[in-house]
This record gives sequence, structure tokens and C-alpha cells, in this order.
Amino acid sequence: MALAQDRAREEFLTAVGPDGLIDDPVELRSYECDGLTGYRVTPALVLLPRTTEQVAAAVRVCARHRIPFVARGAGTGLSGGALPVAEGVVISVQRLRAVLEVDPVHRRARVQPGVTNLDITRTVSEHGLYFAPDPSSQQVCTIGGNVAENSGGAHCLKYGFTVNHVLAAEVVLPDGTVTTLGGDSAHQGGYDLLGAFIGSEGTLGIVTEITVKLLPRPAVVRTVVADFPSVEQSCRTVSAIVARGIVPAAVEMMDTLAIEAVEVAVAAGYTRGAAAALIVELDGPEGEVATQFDQVLGLCREHGTTKLRVAETDEERTAIWKGRKAAFAAMGRISPNYFVQDGVVPRTRLAEALTRIAELADAAGLRVANVFHAGDGNLHPLVLYNESAGEHDRAEELSSAIAELCVDLGGSLSGEHGIGTDKVCSMVRQFTADDLATMALLRQAYDPQNICNPGKLLPTPRLCGEQPGPHKPHPAETAGLAERW
Ligand SMILES: Cc1cc2nc3c(=O)[nH]c(=O)nc-3n(C[C@H](O)[C@H](O)[C@H](O)COP(=O)(O)OP(=O)(O)OC[C@H]3O[C@@H](n4cnc5c(N)ncnc54)[C@H](O)[C@@H]3O)c2cc1C
Repeated sequence: MALAQDRAREEFLTAVGPDGLIDDPVELRSYECDGLTGYRVTPALVLLPRTTEQVAAAVRVCARHRIPFVARGAGTGLSGGALPVAEGVVISVQRLRAVLEVDPVHRRARVQPGVTNLDITRTVSEHGLYFAPDPSSQQVCTIGGNVAENSGGAHCLKYGFTVNHVLAAEVVLPDGTVTTLGGDSAHQGGYDLLGAFIGSEGTLGIVTEITVKLLPRPAVVRTVVADFPSVEQSCRTVSAIVARGIVPAAVEMMDTLAIEAVEVAVAAGYTRGAAAALIVELDGPEGEVATQFDQVLGLCREHGTTKLRVAETDEERTAIWKGRKAAFAAMGRISPNYFVQDGVVPRTRLAEALTRIAELADAAGLRVANVFHAGDGNLHPLVLYNESAGEHDRAEELSSAIAELCVDLGGSLSGEHGIGTDKVCSMVRQFTADDLATMALLRQAYDPQNICNPGKLLPTPRLCGEQPGPHKPHPAETAGLAERW
């Protein structure tokens, strides 16, 4: 039974209006994947609500007919989180893009989920404020997507992730109920349901309004790019900076291949051929930054830096960050295809992780470029491959092996891009069967029908085959819903 012929379609039309429903097969294809383009599913319908009430009405139709739905922001996710479900609907929040209120006195803003990350900062900058989490995709990704993924960015080392910058969220639950999680004060008492929602990858409902915290712009920012003759020396420098008690705003690393790609793409002025480049940024009060910046330069020298490029102007600093933020996309200049990995390792095991990744890459006969948030130990190995040369499966296997290596080194499967579709079957490497069953109980409490972004985040036998350890079947599996959808 095709959804388009279902009477549910008429109810969706009533919920969002004729201009809020897409069912043209060609237009639907724009929604068939997110940034993880290797997975593609065309949805039956796409809905474009304009208000919270329209989102709630659309979700109520889904709940009534047990139709799976997937929330979508800008579709920049890199883990297949916004991958549609065949015969399900995609609910896009692209038309919910108003900044509803800016409160400079209490340093907060109330925004709709389709507002881009960078537009929050642009809107509040006249008050000397900004929104701290800064994913490299910040020009296009939405704050709703940031909440769903608990997104990070270069400056999360000092300032924390999205979860540290959200006070409240209005949410449409999977039965269509509208509720608010969190509130005006940071400490609410009771269970931290807002904390559980942030990072839940669109599996607990659709966020329709977010109250974010804003920070005052720091008085001073100093940025340096330090080249190193080996990756190991740059990794030791990162540990030394942190061991000195300095908390940089950002510590980012790029290896030779990543530098090469960035230079070809945007000519950011990095040194071609350097084994590693570290970007270290400090911010805060002038005196403190001046002292600590000298210490950072000294530590870079002690660890054998071959070149220090200090940004002397805002333009130079912008150029340095332009290169770093363009790094993923720049891979297109040196490889027809690539996968972005997102594992975390303890900072002290960075060098070991990079050596093991190089060995895995050699064994697979593929190249891996590394560009990552070194301060957090959050690796982003970019597995380069050529689809038309039949390298896809080998690259996918290498990418999974890298993620699992991170777990084996005492880290985790994801630092900020989420589990989504991509790593759902690797979850058993990091979590015990009891951990996963507990997470499933939380999910069932919100979504007993399993219609809210099903198939993402938590493994099931249907998705991953029988996994070691006990698996508690989801109610939707036992109810036969899995077969229907
Ligand atoms: C070039 C590039 C660089 C990137 N750099 C970073 C980085 O530095 N740090 C980082 O953390 N990420 C990064 N990302 C990943 C991505 O941009 C983030 O995960 C971002 O938060 C996704 O936002 P989006 O609006 O595109 O969400 P989408 O891709 O549309 O959706 C992502 C997930 O959120 C859910 N979702 C979307 N909107 C809502 C909503 N309103 N309510 C509930 N669930 C919702 C979806 O169902 C899906 O599961 C990068 C991606 C690219 C392409």
C-alpha cells in the first residue's frame, strides 16, 4: 500500500496545507540522504510545516496511522541520522527559521529549529554576544540539528557542546503532544529530560523552539599555526599544553594529506609538506591570554616546531579558520569520494591511534587524511576512495574498523556526528547489552510505536543480525510494524 494513496495523505494536507506537502518523485529525491551520501532512501512524502502546531498536527497523523517520520534540518549530518524511512515521511523544519527573542540582559535567545547556527551569532553580535558551539558546518546546519546531535566544533574544548548551551526546548513528542523540557534556570530538579533529549538524534521527538545561552565575546583572541616534523611531536605538544594547566579555546590538528587538500581548495597559507599542523587558539582577558600564549609558543618550540605562524590581524585569523573549516569539503579536490569518521580516543593515546589508523589504511590499500579536534581527542579520519574503481566496500570496512579501534583504545564511537545509521551496528562494541536495553527503555517511554526516526542509534537484530548478548525486542518488532515499514 503506497502512502500517497493512503487517506493519511489527506490528513497531512489538512495538517500542513497544500504548499507544505511534497510528493513529486523528483523533488522527493532532494531529501533521500544527508551528508552521508552512501545511504539513500526516497521518502513517501516530505512535509514542510510553518508552526509548532503544524508539526504537532503532522506528527499526530503519523501516530494515528503508525507512519514512521524523520525530522530534518539542513541535512548536513554525517551519520545518516536524517536518512528517510521508505514509505515514511520526512518532516523538515526549514520553514521554522525565526529568531523569536533576544534577551541581552539574561544572555539568551529563543529561536526556531531551522535557524542556522551562525545566524544565531550574527543576530546577537550587536549586543557583543555569541553562541559558542561552532560546528564547521555552522553556515548551513540548523540549531535543531545541533540539538539532536549534541553538536560540537573547534571551540568545544573550552566551552562545551550544544548540551552546555541550551536552557529549554519546546518539543513535539512522537504522539503529537507539545511539551517544554528545561526552563529558565539551569537547574530544574528531577530527571534531566532536556539532557536526555539533546543528542538523542531525532529519536525522542521534534524540537520546535530552543532557548539558547549566549556568551560575551572574549576581550582578546590569539591564534597560532605550529608546524611539526612528525604527528607524534604535535600530539605530545597538545598533552603538554593541557598538562601546563592551559585550557585553549581550540586545539586543532591536520596531517600532510589534509593540509594538501586545504591548500588546493582554499589556499589558507598552511605549509605544504608539513607532517602536522596544530592550530592553537586562546581567548579571554588580555593579561591571561598574553602570558599563556607565550607559554604555548614555548611548548611548541620545546617539542620541535619547525614554523610558528601567529595571526596578527582578524583577517589572518579568519584565513586560518577558513582553511580548517573547509577541510572536509576540500577532500573532494584530492579524492573522488570519502567517508568522514568521528571517533574519540583519550588525548594521551592520540599518537598511537594515528599510527594504528595508518597501518589499517596501508593494509586496506587506501589513503586516510586526518583533521581533528586534538584537544578533545576527537578524531576525524577521512577515508579516501574511488567509488567507480570499486573501492566503496573496502573504504566502508576501513572506516568502521577505525571507529572500533577508537573504542578499543578506551574512547568512543562518536565525538559529535552521532551514531545514526552509520554506526548503529557498532554500538555493541561500546555498550553492554544491559546499557543498550536501558537506552531502549527510555526510547520506548517516548515512542512506544517506534515511529520516530526508527532504525537509528540503537541496534536491532533486523538491522544488524543477532548480536552477542541478550536483546530485548522492541514492541514495534513484536507488533509486526517492522515488517510493514
Ligand atoms: C562539512 C561539514 C562539517 C561538519 N562539521 C561538524 C563539526 O565541526 N561538529 C559537529 O558536531 N558536526 C559537524 N558536522 C555534522 C553536522 O553539520 C551536524 O551534525 C549538524 O548538527 C546537523 O545539523 P542539520 O541541521 O544539518 O541536521 P540534519 O542533518 O538535517 O539532521 C541531523 C539529525 O538531527 C535530527 N533533527 C534535525 N532537526 C531536528 C529537529 N528539529 N528536532 C529533532 N531532531 C532533528 C535528524 O532527524 C537527524 O537525526 C559537519 C558536517 C559537514 C557536512
